[in-house]
Amino acid sequence: MGRVFVNRTLNLKRIRYLGFDMDHTLVRYNSENFEKLAHRVMIEKLVRDKGYPESLLKLPFFYDRAIRGLIIDKAKGNTLKLSRHSAIRVSYHGLKPIDYREQGRLYKSVYIDLRDSNFVSIDTAFSIAHAALFMQLVDLRDAQADNTTLPDYAHIAEDLNFVLDRAHRDGSLKDEVRKNLDKYIIKDEALVAGLERFKKHGKKLFIATNSDYSYSKLLLDYTINPFVKEHKSWEDLFEITITLSAKPRFFIDNQRFLKIDPKTGLMSNMDQKLGPGIYQGGSANVFTSDLDVAPDEILYIGDHIYGDVLRLKKDLAWRTALVVEELEEEISKEREAAPLLEKVNHLMDQKFPLEIKIDKLISEQIETGTKTHEDEIHKMLGEISEIDKAVSPLLKQQQQLFNPYWGEVMRTGIEESYFAYQVDRFACVYMAKLSDLLATSPRTYFRSWRRPLAHDLEIAKHQPKADLKS
Ligand code: IMP
Ligand code: MG
Repeated sequence: MGRVFVNRTLNLKRIRYLGFDMDHTLVRYNSENFEKLAHRVMIEKLVRDKGYPESLLKLPFFYDRAIRGLIIDKAKGNTLKLSRHSAIRVSYHGLKPIDYREQGRLYKSVYIDLRDSNFVSIDTAFSIAHAALFMQLVDLRDAQADNTTLPDYAHIAEDLNFVLDRAHRDGSLKDEVRKNLDKYIIKDEALVAGLERFKKHGKKLFIATNSDYSYSKLLLDYTINPFVKEHKSWEDLFEITITLSAKPRFFIDNQRFLKIDPKTGLMSNMDQKLGPGIYQGGSANVFTSDLDVAPDEILYIGDHIYGDVLRLKKDLAWRTALVVEELEEEISKEREAAPLLEKVNHLMDQKFPLEIKIDKLISEQIETGTKTHEDEIHKMLGEISEIDKAVSPLLKQQQQLFNPYWGEVMRTGIEESYFAYQVDRFACVYMAKLSDLLATSPRTYFRSWRRPLAHDLEIAKHQPKADLKS
């Protein structure tokens, strides 16, 4: 059953155009296989083009070394996981965890200013290998006796950007995908059925992808065409396909649209208004004015928090949906972890009154200038320490269910992660995969919850149950 999570109320009846990002949205990847390939290709390029040592070719790839939402500190060689308030909650130098004291020494404030250009966020599924390799290379650089074979951390980060960018553009990744489509690409029949159903309801479908026409055609031929029932092909299903859209620039600038001839792949200038067809480049402004569509009648669905939804929400008023593919596993693990957290909560319920009582007794001692409660305080501190001892392995067990290095993608301890905060802020709705959204009725009114603030929770806790019902 599809599950769509609602941050902001969204009435699908109001939506006339549904727009799709392609990679990791309309087309699902086997991310672990793809990132393993990206890791290898990046290393090959570092060795061949950037003079890195050949020994790197033997470096293994560990998919779980990085998750989405991490921040790389290029200058210090660190990788950080932040809370919703941008406070560092987990950190590694290379592959080694940084302890709290060291973290305090390295960062004057626990809060990170993400406007600093030394910080780079890992916000697409295409950057996992990049982060994992950065951590490995920092570690190797530290291990070098004379620090001469590998450049400094910032330089490593820049070289990695360069080779990853090249790998995406020069065909070294895409040619490999082309040769082994079933290894890298996941077909989703339900998704195509959902698209056709939305069309029956009069919705117009379009694609805006940063991939080029030839790669888009390859993936759409493979994932869409086998399953279309009421259309000849994807070209027929999608009214408009925009390739090489250069998002997020597509949403901000006024790049020109070029028309692509699907038979030859050749491009020509446009001298009329945008209509059905296949294009390259373009801009959201021209899109909405030529098609005479109001921004809030468009729902755009993507997977890239920055490229696909953040600029859309900040600069335009298109409605947004975000695919967070990690959610599927995270939700099922959360269910598994629930009994552990219940035990933790039960223990914490015993701990909090003890803390309050100790504070009260200490206050009394300070104010009366006596030491009469020392024994009682001591006894209660012992009880607290026993509770902490019981809580600690439970929390460890809970964390082990998730990524062993970083924990959940959406949380950090009891707080939301910085990634979750961005999802909350910029995506009107979000889901684990596009077919979850397309499984809903095109007439759905997605209603957001009344969101409790801290004082609401406090009031609810102390309110008698009967009162809550009335
Ligand atoms: P979209 O998600 O459909 O917009 O397409 C993403 C496109 O961007 C794919 O063709 C990727 O190969 C490409 N891509 C991802 N990361 C990079 C990069 O770092 N440099 C250049 N292209 C990239
Ligand atoms: Mg994408």
